[in-house]
Amino acid sequence: VTTAAISAEYDYVIVGGGSAGCVLAARLSASGSDRVLLIEAGSHDRSPFIRVPAGVKSITSRYDWCYPVEADASRGGVTENWASGKVIGGGSSVNAMLWVRGNRADFDRWAQDGAIGWDYENLLPYFVRSETFEDGARPRRGRGGPIHVSTVRVRHAVTDAFITSGAKSAFAANPDYNGDRQDGIAYSQVNQHRGWRSSTARAYLAPARRRRNLQVRLNTLAHRVVVEHGQAVGVEVEHNGAVTQIRATREVILAAGALATPRLLMLSGIGPAPDLRRHGIEVVTDRTGVGSNLQEHPLTVLLHRVNIRTLNRELTLSGVLKHGVDFAVRGRGAVSSPAVHAIAFGASPQADGASWFQAMFSPFGVVGKPSANKSGDDDGRMTHDVHAMKLLEHSSTTTYPCVLHPHTRGSLTLRSADPADLPLISHELLGDPRDVELLREAARLTRVVFDTDPLRSMVTEEMSPGAKVQSDTDWATYLRSHTFRSNHPVGTARMGSDDDAVVDPDLKVRGVDHLRVVDASVMPTLPSGNTNAATIAIAERASDLIRGRVGVGATHTDANASR
Ligand SMILES: Cc1cc2nc3c(=O)[nH]c(=O)nc-3n(C[C@H](O)[C@H](O)[C@H](O)COP(=O)(O)OP(=O)(O)OC[C@H]3O[C@@H](n4cnc5c(N)ncnc54)[C@H](O)[C@@H]3O)c2cc1C
Repeated sequence: VTTAAISAEYDYVIVGGGSAGCVLAARLSASGSDRVLLIEAGSHDRSPFIRVPAGVKSITSRYDWCYPVEADASRGGVTENWASGKVIGGGSSVNAMLWVRGNRADFDRWAQDGAIGWDYENLLPYFVRSETFEDGARPRRGRGGPIHVSTVRVRHAVTDAFITSGAKSAFAANPDYNGDRQDGIAYSQVNQHRGWRSSTARAYLAPARRRRNLQVRLNTLAHRVVVEHGQAVGVEVEHNGAVTQIRATREVILAAGALATPRLLMLSGIGPAPDLRRHGIEVVTDRTGVGSNLQEHPLTVLLHRVNIRTLNRELTLSGVLKHGVDFAVRGRGAVSSPAVHAIAFGASPQADGASWFQAMFSPFGVVGKPSANKSGDDDGRMTHDVHAMKLLEHSSTTTYPCVLHPHTRGSLTLRSADPADLPLISHELLGDPRDVELLREAARLTRVVFDTDPLRSMVTEEMSPGAKVQSDTDWATYLRSHTFRSNHPVGTARMGSDDDAVVDPDLKVRGVDHLRVVDASVMPTLPSGNTNAATIAIAERASDLIRGRVGVGATHTDANASR
């Protein structure tokens, strides 16, 4: 490795200005004295498609890493990119804005399995600290935090019907799945402020940017962490073709996301030794866990034609223009519409509220694009490329049943030693037959909701999978051509107390000093739900760990006091 010239020095260098990175930059620079640098490969987030919720379907691949994934044998060899935000705010700037903490049982299980200190009661103060819940004071909800959260601001009769029918059949009624318990059916909560997207770039970073001790470098690609004598001392970066080294006197913190952080670790000599040697990378520490344990929520789709006018008619360009005034004045109407208007979490009766599946409901019908098989022919399968979703022309609804705790695991490794090369990702969404069964049962239970009044009287046809899909075999066939990623990758730099864990419960990388990972990579397993809020809570707690503010038994009050 040639050594690049040193261009600057900071106390903390954070790599990746996404959901976690923006939280860290804001919290670590709050002292006014610690010198903090945030490095982000993507650009600014000024596009109206990013800021306005209804724009989400028009966010172009310019803001997406579009990680290529190896052909998925469990889905007939389909190849689909993995979407991941490449812009300041990362995933929180391009995602569907669903605000879901997860289930108490998820975090308690993390702690039991060795992620000591990450149980729900310890994380709760950080969930609370991250948010301002706009729907009024409630126990266990935040009132002064940066991310604004509100219940979805567009109400539609078909969504009301979905919730009513759901509460009469497959789910419990529960207006706040981020409150005391998660299981049940409700209107979605979204990270929006007066209808605009509330990303970590807007909510955390923007107010901190005027601090003189915080620098943000956009369009800057981190190549590797510089490790000297077993200690991280800086980061090698590229900006406008020039490669330089930035020194960190206290810590380097990787927050590049679950598909990028393991790659950066490997490029820095931290990973499975044989893989590193194969690419001529000097081994700093042999860590077999780097890049393994890759997890994702598999979801499938139910499409229904309905006899009540849905947002398919409102979310067209002319509809959005018509609703623009309502949005500008009140932050309401179809322009403030997120993709998902209602969410249900299903728990089996004996599970004490621990959810095993989720169903997400949109009062409009959308379809993905037909996939091409390995020989390039259209094979009738669908893909869910986030940049190629199409609104149906007629009134319809889309529902996504999803397995919350899949058994399948994928992995990622280096394609080459070139930092510009995206990693080699292998992940079979239905690689474990138990996940096919779970998804099938989740879809069947969701179907029951459509067969319950008042929703039943609005449905004129189940378009997909269609009435002919009934037996286990029918479902298996359908799922193998209609199962998609939720874009929730986690787990590739797992935290734990065992030797195979990549980071310890303080999120310090094993085998290298002054280096932490703080992003979705550290999650040992997927939480029950969309992963943004949990990533933000992890970054909040990490900021206290880094500043030495988390002691054994930190309480709710301690966390609030340490803002
Ligand atoms: C299309 C989509 C929809 C989603 N919908 C939801 C949802 O509705 N609700 C929800 O809760 N979650 C959702 N998610 C998931 C959620 O957004 C992510 O779990 C979360 O953003 C992960 O945060 P992170 O900090 O780990 O990584 P990211 O937010 O991805 O941040 C990583 C950052 O690092 C940068 N980076 C990467 N490599 C480098 C490098 N070498 N040098 C410099 N910078 C680098 C990236 O550009 C990025 O900005 C969605 C994700 C996607 C992609």
